Amino acid sequence: MPTSPPHRLSPPDPVPILLRLVATVHEDAELDVTLQRLCKAVAELLGVRSVSARVLDETRTRLLVAARSGQPTHTLPDVEFTVGEGLVGWVVAERQALRLAHAEADPRFVIKPGQPPTFGSFLGVPLLDDQGCIGVISTLTPAEPPFTEQDQERVELAVRMSERSLQLGRLRRLATFDPLTSAYNRRALEQFVPTHDDGVPLSAAMLDLDHFKQINDRHGHPVGDLVLRRLVEALHGLLRHEDRVLRMGGEEFLVLLPGATLAAAASVTERARQRIAAGEFVPGVRVTVSAGVTERHPGEPRDAFVARADRACYRAKSSGRNVMVVDPG
Ligand code: GH3
Ligand code: MG
Ligand code: MG
Repeated sequence: MPTSPPHRLSPPDPVPILLRLVATVHEDAELDVTLQRLCKAVAELLGVRSVSARVLDETRTRLLVAARSGQPTHTLPDVEFTVGEGLVGWVVAERQALRLAHAEADPRFVIKPGQPPTFGSFLGVPLLDDQGCIGVISTLTPAEPPFTEQDQERVELAVRMSERSLQLGRLRRLATFDPLTSAYNRRALEQFVPTHDDGVPLSAAMLDLDHFKQINDRHGHPVGDLVLRRLVEALHGLLRHEDRVLRMGGEEFLVLLPGATLAAAASVTERARQRIAAGEFVPGVRVTVSAGVTERHPGEPRDAFVARADRACYRAKSSGRNVMVVDPG
């Protein structure tokens, strides 16, 4: 028996949703946070469950998922699209909104391996800056009725209201981004370890891959690169939304855990160490990490705090590797 399609929620009053968006989207907010808020507002405006925002990488070729309504930002292993590919790729290439009642019937529609077969009404709106397109916000739902012109106008309005914050957030993100792993780079330390003491506990774990040179020697540099990327993905999957992973050097990562006490940071780090040692990020390649954990003293200079985590990591190396050392300060 054919089942009737699900129904979208009836259109809500857009004004309170847009006002809430304006009130929460600040120019100094991180890009991820702005995108998350925008996705949430668009999901509410359209009465749909899932809206995603994809942004272009630093070369403006790959579209990476940056946010999805109702989900933490950095736990989104997802299918990448290139500019021009699929419906979202078309929106970015043409810098035009796209609205379809039956996405699956459109010749531009593609299903990538690993993606569940999806069908229904599609709405995609470009995210623009002065130099062109920086990404796309989109949704596809089997729910009836299909998206209307009014839906599209509302989404375009929400995007325009967030545009300045998106542009500034993207510039900051590019300056602090490590293109290989999509972690932050060490410049982001300034952003995430404030010089003034804001009274919030802050812990850090320095992680260094063990004998990584041998991984490269044995399996080749590209496999080493893949291990680094997978490691960052795995860390993001284990951490909270507010935690940050910074690539400090080749195979060295600093995890910042705002609000975490030393004990909490040690427990998270030890769990990560064990998971890393137990799995194979790349088939046939096992890696371990040595870790040093510490908590910032009130008012402690940034460099002294990071150096303490580094020294603890060094002690973990000296004591045989694949261990965690906690420095109580
Ligand atoms: P240890 O257990 O003492 O940390 O040994 P290690 O081999 O990990 O440390 P060492 O500092 O001697 O070597 C680090 C290696 O990391 C050497 C370098 O080839 C590799 N490396 C650094 N950056 C990258 C990168 O971007 N990609 C790849 N594939 N390898 C990298
Ligand atoms: Mg190493
Ligand atoms: Mg190292």
